[in-house]
Amino acid sequence: MARCSVCGAPAVAYIRYQKRYMCRDHYLEFVESKVERAILRHRLVRRGQRVLAAVSGGKDSSTLLAVLSRLSGKLGFELVALYIHLGIYDYSEKSREASLRLARQLNVPLIVFDLKEVLGAGIPELARASKRPPCSVCGMVKRYVINAAAVELAADAVALGHNADDIAVYNLKSFLNQDLEAISKLGVRTESIPGVAVGRIRPLYYVYEKESFLYSLLAGLPFLHEECPFVDRRQMEVELKETVNQLEDKRPGLKLQMVSKLAKRVEDYPKPGGSIGRCPSCGLLSSGGECSFCRVTRRALGRPMGPVVREWFRRRA
Ligand code: SF4
Ligand code: ZN
Ligand code: ZN
Repeated sequence: MARCSVCGAPAVAYIRYQKRYMCRDHYLEFVESKVERAILRHRLVRRGQRVLAAVSGGKDSSTLLAVLSRLSGKLGFELVALYIHLGIYDYSEKSREASLRLARQLNVPLIVFDLKEVLGAGIPELARASKRPPCSVCGMVKRYVINAAAVELAADAVALGHNADDIAVYNLKSFLNQDLEAISKLGVRTESIPGVAVGRIRPLYYVYEKESFLYSLLAGLPFLHEECPFVDRRQMEVELKETVNQLEDKRPGLKLQMVSKLAKRVEDYPKPGGSIGRCPSCGLLSSGGECSFCRVTRRALGRPMGPVVREWFRRRA
């Protein structure tokens, strides 16, 4: 039986790129120290700050919330979780349940924002009314709601559960499309713009997807194993993910090298052009004119809903 390279106890994990076996406790410590190092190296959070962690009920956000809640005492920051109920049938019900159980288990305050309750429409209705694919509307809605929540709750940073695999795949996809501005947004952190946008941080930047999954399992965290019914398995990301995994098999540590190099060079990529302005309807970040959220909700529901979302969070601040 393989033994932990640190303490000699029975091993439950093998980290190929480090050629090390690990027992449960040392494995959990390994992932937590990766996140802690990322926070310290990139100054993601400072003592006394408030972090809003976006959770979806999936494995990555479970790992994110669990590791941040462990580190919040040591590093002295406040942690609040946000779950957005997207109104995607049974999937949303189950993911809400998983998020509630996770927050209870970790003793982290959780805010549940229900799209249907607040806007009168979930993602399927918004997608139908705006004639856009569900994932495109969903991504935009989540970005908007998370930022509105962070602004109203006076958070200093929004923590997202993107792992090293996600970053490596987006990076490759953006490179293939020569979308250098998209690469410029793939750093470990983005800066806040006072009053209109709260900076995003990616504490799992150096954590592999497999590592995040195993952490959730070994730490006994509740998470939803099911995928959203709108996931498109034919997407380019899925094929790129397989390719990156094949390369990782041949060259253990390749993903880590990819994200580490990106973190160092991301500042050199051209930033999106255009002026940064305020949406005339809701007052939050817009790249010109009304923001996408206000535009889409105006078209689908008859009025821009940004102010309604902001007010909902303001009452909970
Ligand atoms: Fe939203 Fe698409 Fe993800 Fe489903 S798969 S949660 S619709 S982005
Ligand atoms: Zn050990
Ligand atoms: Zn707006």
